[in-house]
Amino acid sequence: MQVPLFDMRVQYRGLQKSIEDAVHRVLASGQVILGPEVEAFEKEVAQYLGVGYAVGCASGSDALLLALKALDIGPGDEVIVPTFTFFATAASVVRAGATPVFADVEPDTANIHPREIAERVTARTKAVIVVHLFGQCADMEPIWRLAERHGFYILEDAAQAFGAEYQGKKAGTLGHLACFSFYPTKNLGACGDAGMVTTNDPDWAARVARLRVHGMEPKYYHPDLGWNSRLDALQAAILRVKLAWVERFLDARRAAARRYQELLEHEKLGYDLYPLAVRSYGKHTFNQYVVRVAHGQRDALMRHLQLHGIGAEIYYPLPLHLQPCFRQLGYRGGDFPTSEQLCQEVLALPMYPELTYPQQKHVIHTCAAYFRQEVRLAA
Ligand SMILES: *Cc1c(COP(=O)(O)O)cnc(C)c1O
Repeated sequence: MQVPLFDMRVQYRGLQKSIEDAVHRVLASGQVILGPEVEAFEKEVAQYLGVGYAVGCASGSDALLLALKALDIGPGDEVIVPTFTFFATAASVVRAGATPVFADVEPDTANIHPREIAERVTARTKAVIVVHLFGQCADMEPIWRLAERHGFYILEDAAQAFGAEYQGKKAGTLGHLACFSFYPTKNLGACGDAGMVTTNDPDWAARVARLRVHGMEPKYYHPDLGWNSRLDALQAAILRVKLAWVERFLDARRAAARRYQELLEHEKLGYDLYPLAVRSYGKHTFNQYVVRVAHGQRDALMRHLQLHGIGAEIYYPLPLHLQPCFRQLGYRGGDFPTSEQLCQEVLALPMYPELTYPQQKHVIHTCAAYFRQEVRLAA
C-alpha cells in the first residue's frame, strides 16, 4: 500500500468540475492578474476569518515582507522570530533590512515560547513574528501582554494555520498583521504560488495593496519602493472553490489526527514515538501531523517507512540560527536546546483531508513493527 505524505490529486478529482469552471470563467474574462476575481477572494477570506481587510499577493514569503514593510520595519530594527520554523519567517526580516533575533520554542507544541520573547525584548524590538506551527496557534495571551507592555507589533505567520483558532478567534485576527500562504500543501492550497496579508487596520491594508504593485499610486507614481507581488486571478478563482470546502477539509484533518492518536495508544509506543501536544485553548488544523521519535531512531524509522511505501518528512532538520546563510548573526550550537533537540526528533507522517483509515493503520503498524524489530535486535 502506498501512503504519500500529501496527495493533491484526490482533492482535485473531487472538485474537478468546479475548478475547471472557475478556470474557464477567468480565461473568458480576459482579466488574469488581480481584478474582480482576486477582490472577491479577498472579501470572502476576510469574512471567513472575521477580519477587516485581506490583501492577496504572490506567496506567503512575500506576505511576510509586505507586512514588515507596511510597518516600516527596516535597518536598525530587531524582530523576534522562533528558530524552529520554515526559513521564510526569518528570511523576510533580513530581506526587510532588519535583524532577526531568534527565540526558542515550547518543547511539547514546538510553538514560540512566550518567556523566550520576554527575555529577548530590547529597545530596538519592533515586532515579533508569531508562527502558528503545524496548524496550531501559539499561546497568544502572554504575547499580547508583552506587546502591550513593550510596544512592539505582533505579526502572525499563519502560513500553516488557515482556519486555526485561539480562544474562539481565527488565526489571522490575533495580531496587528497576519500572513498566509496558499502553497499547494497548505490547509487552503492553490495550484501554484499565492499568499495573503490580513489586518483590521485600513491604512496598513492600503499600504500592503500598494506595495504589491511596485508601491505605485496613482499609476506611474511611486510613494513607496514596492515590487511585483500580485496574485493571479486563476489562483484566486481556484482558491474560492476550495474556500467553500475548507471547513470540511479541516474537520477531516482533525478526524485523521484523532485516528492516529487512537492507533498510537493502541500500539503502546510510549516515548518511542508520540505526537506533539494539542492545546485546549483553540482548534488545531493539523496542516502537518508531527510526532517525536526518541533515542536517535528517527532517521532509521523514516527510511523504514519509505521502504514500505510511506511518505514522511522532517520539518525541520536544522534550526534557523544554525543555517549557513545566517552565520553572520553569530549564533552557535547549544544556543536554543529545545529547537535543536526537536530537529533531531521530529517526523511528519502522512496528513491530508482524504487520508483513509486503512492508510493510517498501515502507517502506524509499520512504525510499531520497526520498534518491535529494534527491540529484537537489541536483545
Ligand atoms: C509555507 C510557509 C511560508 C512561506 O510561504 P510560501 O507561500 O511558500 O512563500 C512561510 N512560513 C511558514 C511557516 C510556512 O510554512
